[in-house]
Amino acid sequence: MLDEKLEPIYADVLRRNPGEEEFHQAVREVLDSLGAVIAKHPDYAEDALIERICEPERQIIFRVPWIDDKGRVQINRGFRVQFNSALGPYKGGIRFHPTVLLGTIKFLGFEQIFKNALTGMPIGGGKGGSDFDPKGRSEGEIMRFCQSFMTELARHLGEYTDVPAGDIGVGQREIGFMFGQYKRMTNRYESGVLTGKGLIWGGSRVRTEATGYGAVYFVDRMLKRRNQGLEGKKVLVSGAGNVAIYTIEKVRQLGGRVIACSDSDGYVVDDTGAGIDLELLKEIKEKQRGRVADYAAARGAGTTYVPGGRIWEVPADIAMPSATQNELNGQDARTLVKNGVVAVGEGANMPCTPDAVRVFLDAGVLFGPGKAANAGGVATSALEMQQNASRDSWTFEATEQRLATIMNGIHDRCAEMAEEYGAPGNYVLGANVAGFIRVAEAMRALGVV
Ligand code: NDP
Repeated sequence: MLDEKLEPIYADVLRRNPGEEEFHQAVREVLDSLGAVIAKHPDYAEDALIERICEPERQIIFRVPWIDDKGRVQINRGFRVQFNSALGPYKGGIRFHPTVLLGTIKFLGFEQIFKNALTGMPIGGGKGGSDFDPKGRSEGEIMRFCQSFMTELARHLGEYTDVPAGDIGVGQREIGFMFGQYKRMTNRYESGVLTGKGLIWGGSRVRTEATGYGAVYFVDRMLKRRNQGLEGKKVLVSGAGNVAIYTIEKVRQLGGRVIACSDSDGYVVDDTGAGIDLELLKEIKEKQRGRVADYAAARGAGTTYVPGGRIWEVPADIAMPSATQNELNGQDARTLVKNGVVAVGEGANMPCTPDAVRVFLDAGVLFGPGKAANAGGVATSALEMQQNASRDSWTFEATEQRLATIMNGIHDRCAEMAEEYGAPGNYVLGANVAGFIRVAEAMRALGVV
C-alpha cells in the first residue's frame, strides 16, 4: 500500500507514461520507500518535489540511419533521457539492445538519479540507448552505427552537460567509436565527455572491473555485518558480460566459488575445482565474442550446459543477477530461498521483480538492490572524470582502493538510513531514502527547477 499522499503521484505517472511498465515499476519501488520519509518530514511532499523527480528534465528521441555491409540503409531509434541534473551533469550509460524502448531508458535513467546520489559524487542522472542489435553485426557495421548515433547525440553532450558511459551491448570498443566521432565533430579532445574509455586514450584503471568488483564488495560488507564472508561460498552469477565477468573475478579473489553463469540462450554449471574458469570465459566472451555454450564445449567434462534453463534452479549460497531487468522472478526467489541462499546482490539494474524482492526480504535474506550494489561502475566513471579534468592517471591499486571505500560508504549509508527509518536490514528502503534525500535537498536549494 502506498502512502495516501503518494497515491495520486503514482496514478499521475501511470496516466502520463502509458505502456512504460518498467518505468512504472522503478517509480513504484522508490515511492514505496518514500512513505517513511514524508511521515517524518512532511515538507518533502510539498512544492511538487516528488512529482518533479518523476518527470525527466529532457527526453531526446532521434533517427539513426546507417548502411550495413550489403550497402542497404538501416534505421534505428536513438534515445537519451536527461533525467535530473540537480547534483551534476547527467551521467549514465548507453544500451544497445533490440528490446530498448523509451520506457526502458526512462526506468534506467530514473534508477540512475538515486544511484548517482548514493555515491556522494557530483553527478546527475541520465541514460540512453538504441534498439540496435549488435549481435551478428560486423565491426564495420558497429562502427558506422556508433558514428551515426553520435552524430545526433553529440549536440546534447559535454563534460559539464551530459556524460554517457557503456551498458548492455556497449563496451570499450563502442565507446571508442563514439568518442572518435565526437572528437571529429567538435575538434576538441574532450576526454570528460564519455567514460569507459580505453586506458591509452583517457580511460581509468578499474573502470572495466568496477561494477562487478563493487557489487561483490557490497555483498561482502553485508555478509560481514552478520559475521560471515565469501570464503567457501557457492555463488551464481547470471549473464556473461562485463558485470558478470568481473563479479566472478572478485568473488574468486575473496575466496568464493562461482559455479554457474549464463547468457540469453542458457546457463552453464561448472562445479569442479575453482568453479567457472575465468580465463577461458574471458577468452570466449571478450576476445572471440562467443557464447556460454562455446565455453561449456571448450571446458568439456565436468560442466553442464542447460539451454534455455533458469540459472536460479542451481543450489547456491549467494545469487548475483548481473544480466538484465526482471530476470529473477518470485518463483526463482522461492527456489533460491528453499535451497538456502543467504545473500543476493543485484549487479544488473532491477533484475529482481518486486515479487522476488518481497520473498527475499520476508525470508531475511540479505538483499543488496542494484542502485546501491552496482553503483561502483558509475562511481569509477566519476573517478575517470576527475582524472580527465586534472589530466592525471591513477594506479590500479589507488583507484581500486577508492572504489572499495565508496562501496563501503554506500553500504553503510543504506544500512544507517534503513535503521533510522524503522526498517533495519532493509537495504532497498535505505538506498531509496538516502538517494532521494540528497537529490531532494539539492533540488530545493536550486529553486523551482
Ligand atoms: P553486457 O552487454 O556486457 O552483458 C550483458 C549480459 O547479460 C550478456 O551475457 C547477455 O547475454 C545478458 N543479457 C542481456 N539481455 C538479456 C536478456 N534480455 N535476457 C537474458 N540475458 C540477457 O552488459 P553489462 O554486463 O554491462 O550489463 C549487465 C547489467 O548490468 C545491465 O542490467 C546493466 O544495466 C547493468 N549495469 C552495468 C554497468 C556497467 O558498468 N556496465 C553499471 C551498472 C549496471 P546475451 O549475450 O545472450 O545477450
